Amino acid sequence: MRALSCSHCGGIVNAEDTDCSHCGIPLPPNHGTQREQSFIYWFIALVIFCVFMMLWLPPDWTPL
Ligand SMILES: [Zn+2]
Repeated sequence: MRALSCSHCGGIVNAEDTDCSHCGIPLPPNHGTQREQSFIYWFIALVIFCVFMMLWLPPDWTPL
């Protein structure tokens, strides 16, 4: 049984729980797995990388 922290109150909840035992907020399904969160981190890293490349290699807006 894994101990996780509630995203609303920060209390310790179990991965099998459907509601937080501290504040009673419904926990999202599959909150025990951090797969979606890591995907968001990868997406943010990709966006930052694209912005960095745009600043480093600015597109040539001058007309031909
Ligand atoms: Zn809570």
